[in-house]
Amino acid sequence: TQADIGLVGLGVMGANLALNIADNGYKVAVYNRTAEGTQAFMEKAGHLKDMFIPCYSSEELVANIKAPRPIILMVPAGAPVDQQISVLREHLKDGDILIDAGNSDFHDSNRRYKELADTPFTFVGMGVSGGAEGARFGPSIMVGASEAAYGRIEPILKAISAKHNDEPCVALMGPEGAGHFVKTLHNGIEYADMQMIAEVHEVMTKSLGLSIEEQAKIFSKWNEGPLASYLIEITANVMGVIDEESGKPILDIILDTAGQKGTGRWSAVEAHLLGVPATGIDAAVAARCMSASRSLRQEIAEVYPQLDETLSWEEKQEGIDACESALIAGKIAAYAEGFAVLAAGGKENGWDLPMGDIARIWRQGCIIRSRFLDEIAQSYDENPTLESLYLAPTIAERMKDAVPGLREVLCMGISNAIPTPALSSALGSFDMIRQKRTAAYVIQGQRDFFGQHGFERTDKDGSGYHGPWPAGGA
Ligand code: NDP
Repeated sequence: TQADIGLVGLGVMGANLALNIADNGYKVAVYNRTAEGTQAFMEKAGHLKDMFIPCYSSEELVANIKAPRPIILMVPAGAPVDQQISVLREHLKDGDILIDAGNSDFHDSNRRYKELADTPFTFVGMGVSGGAEGARFGPSIMVGASEAAYGRIEPILKAISAKHNDEPCVALMGPEGAGHFVKTLHNGIEYADMQMIAEVHEVMTKSLGLSIEEQAKIFSKWNEGPLASYLIEITANVMGVIDEESGKPILDIILDTAGQKGTGRWSAVEAHLLGVPATGIDAAVAARCMSASRSLRQEIAEVYPQLDETLSWEEKQEGIDACESALIAGKIAAYAEGFAVLAAGGKENGWDLPMGDIARIWRQGCIIRSRFLDEIAQSYDENPTLESLYLAPTIAERMKDAVPGLREVLCMGISNAIPTPALSSALGSFDMIRQKRTAAYVIQGQRDFFGQHGFERTDKDGSGYHGPWPAGGA
């Protein structure tokens, strides 16, 4: 019998997704660029072997799937996706659906959606989150597709997706690159979440003198409260692991340069292009870049030695509680930024992004899954046109409670030269957005002084006013 679906690219993600699909009772035709990849996959398929049809060319793949065919591409973003589309399009027929499930740049998905609009098959750009484990046992899935195409692939996506209280973590985000856009911002928030956790860890180490083992316990405890999330949970786990070779906590021997593949940066760039800066996310991306400049850091550290005197909390527990609050406030800020960029991007691209659904499908399967997402989903249910998460009553209460702790942690960090770029930037933006009157009048004064750009007045209507600047100024 023919397969129900096809899958191209049997790497880490593709192989796991194929196994997940088969687990759910769908027969999968699988194809990998190199035949060895297909063979290796079939050898590891175990009891699910009969659920797969190994194929060794695009033509064979297409011939082995029941029409109309859904085919998932799980290859690296960029040129490989275009290459595979150009090969497959020769064989695809009326009604077929080609789904790019890699981490594609949403601008590419927009382009492909338009370029392929006149072909007999339909293109779908789909964001998949949750890493290898998610792909295998249930990812969070963000789909960019026409409603008709989504309707046809929905049953299979619901089956393979993560479930939150039996609700499948998959939803249609909109047409074109909407799915990949939402996935990009998911990763941007993930960058901020991870960086903020790292910053708080450093404050706990240097200002509170807490060992990694002690911190592992604290993170486990936090995971039972408002911070409950996958990232807090795995941080506790990572902190608890001892390196077999050195006998030290593994975190003591992991090199301090963080990698990145681009989606965090795309979020930051997009935020700037949309005029909705996401400074916490931005700083998290920048922090990864700075972590990579290891040798430069060694040199500069020689010029600027560590501080002689360091501040600390008098009461340890007070410091620990402040650190928890800092993470809560930082997290709210990161999500507020991410959702603001989502809203602006949706508007810019003419997509009616389902904000509540986004929060809902991120509650399981993906890396940023957290208890807090329930509150976000609820906030959008109560007010679907919510302009900022900071305005949602439950979130505002939480933020008001947590911000003092964040300020305390930042005072400690800044006084002790402990870098806290993501937390500081997130607080900076929050403090800016909560001002009735910002200091931008100084900038307007300067702009008018040097460039006669004109300004508006607080006491009169109209624009184009100028200051009585001394001669030579303007
Ligand atoms: P891998 O490197 O493990 O696998 C890549 C696969 O793509 C291999 O099967 C490879 O085939 C194939 N491939 C590479 N180049 C081409 C090409 N030019 N034409 C056809 N096939 C090609 O990557 P992952 O599985 O980790 O990632 C796949 C996609 O999923 C990426 O877009 C990634 O960003 C995304 N993703 C990854 C996550 C993760 O945690 N790893 C999480 C979410 C998304 P061959 O065996 O011949 O080299």
